[in-house]
Amino acid sequence: MADAAATVDVRAVHHLIAGKPVAGASGRWGEIFNPSVGEVQAKVQLATGGEVDKAIQAAAKAFPSWAATNPQRRARVMFKFKQLVEEHMDELAALLSSEHGKVLADARGDVQRGLEVIEFACGVPHAQKGEYTEGAGPGIDVYSMRQPLGVCAGITPFNFPAMIPMWMFGVAIACGNTFVLKPSERDPSVPLRLGELFLEAGGPDGVLNVVHGDKEAVDAILTHPDVKAVSFVGSSDIAQYIYANGTAHGKRVQAFGGAKNHGVIMPDADMDQVVNDLVGAAFGSAGERCMALPVAVPIGDDTADELIDKLLPAIAGLKIGVSTDPDAHYGPVVNAAHKKRIENYIQMGVDEGAELKVDGRGFKLQGHENGFFIGPTLFDHVTPTMKTYQEEIFGPVLQIVRAKNFEEAAALPSNHQYGNGVAIFTRNGLAAREFAARVNVGMVGINVPIPVPVAYHSFGGWKRSGFGDQNQHGMEGVRFWTKVKTVTQRWPEGLTEDSAFIIPTMK
Ligand code: NAD
Repeated sequence: MADAAATVDVRAVHHLIAGKPVAGASGRWGEIFNPSVGEVQAKVQLATGGEVDKAIQAAAKAFPSWAATNPQRRARVMFKFKQLVEEHMDELAALLSSEHGKVLADARGDVQRGLEVIEFACGVPHAQKGEYTEGAGPGIDVYSMRQPLGVCAGITPFNFPAMIPMWMFGVAIACGNTFVLKPSERDPSVPLRLGELFLEAGGPDGVLNVVHGDKEAVDAILTHPDVKAVSFVGSSDIAQYIYANGTAHGKRVQAFGGAKNHGVIMPDADMDQVVNDLVGAAFGSAGERCMALPVAVPIGDDTADELIDKLLPAIAGLKIGVSTDPDAHYGPVVNAAHKKRIENYIQMGVDEGAELKVDGRGFKLQGHENGFFIGPTLFDHVTPTMKTYQEEIFGPVLQIVRAKNFEEAAALPSNHQYGNGVAIFTRNGLAAREFAARVNVGMVGINVPIPVPVAYHSFGGWKRSGFGDQNQHGMEGVRFWTKVKTVTQRWPEGLTEDSAFIIPTMK
């Protein structure tokens, strides 16, 4: 893909290093499509290790004075940044939707969910405060502080090009770190604009750098001695690679991976509400969300049959359109390769013996025949041994796995390789409580189809959905981006006791 783009005469997306646009000189390019029309609309230069090193050096240079800037001043930059992002909301949403393909309203949601983390970051001075114990011993006080780590890096996926970068750099920078962001090369323009707006907000040069690239740039980050922490969000195999290599190079790493979220539907659930929630959560953003709900688990055949009876007309009523169509429920998928991959999974589902109730393959949008569109797809009688159940499809495909009882239904998400999100739909509080307590998944919704936690709580999945032990944003985010130093102090007026040769204890 890369070198072909060099010959296309389109806008080139540059890096942002030390507060300056940098054209990049690798000669390797990534293509940025407009998925609604299926054509290349821009190109992005893929950084060399040397270019990544320049960004890291810029961040290292900026670190001492940013770390020494008092927390409230750092927060003021975040407040101003929030205001600027709000003022540029329409521009950012349009740019995002044109490169990603999600519809405009959803693109605004992407920016807005990131902004909510920036709002949290504005309050980081409070969250970063340490602890204090007066009189821990005779004349002894103990206090702790949370200090920034240094140069930190974020590597982000294509599906939330605004929200996920803001999850990371918002909290990291507010805590006093400096940052190198390596966004997805498939839709890099919004992350770059965020970097520019951060500068406009008064962020000093080098505090937030944006370098574009692929594996070469990522490896340069993972092996660089000056990078102290890496946050990653993307697919699970890469997440595992990032975790293994980053930690092997002495870095603190959190790496979030893929997902296969289940929605368990109890016989007592409000089925109209369930169907309403399911179509949005399964097909919204063409299923390209790590918190999408691609697996429905109705309990009992009556529940399953009622669900399907109500789902079919709801699916038939979905409108697929270009990302700028205000009436469209969802737009195209990100590129032709991903479209092909999803279509292959649909064929695999058929071959594995699942019952294809609605087939989204071959969908063509009139006037946009080359766009990367896939119609909504519904499978019934999917079973846990099927590959299409075990793997993440990441497209507008809803799979129904029928369960006989609560135990069988609850075991499915718990035993799945992924453990990002899960939902239960019921009117039974006791069953919901039991489910939430026992399920082996990181984020749970009770009658909430997409349980993405609010910014002051923390986001993170379990099993192959998350490697490392601290989540994104909220207090977990503050802990990830800081290290604790504990000070034990005494101010004696003179010699008070003899030298101690045994370990001091509190008697
Ligand atoms: P991806 O893994 O292909 O790419 C993510 C990042 O890794 C990109 O910046 C990319 O440039 C880089 N990368 C790609 N290949 C690499 C390699 N071989 N070595 C090093 N770096 C590499 O993911 P994607 O397709 O952009 O995003 C979709 C995936 O992200 C889905 O699996 C989705 O579930 C997951 N996701 C997870 C979460 C979460 O919070 N758990 C959130 C959003 C998306």
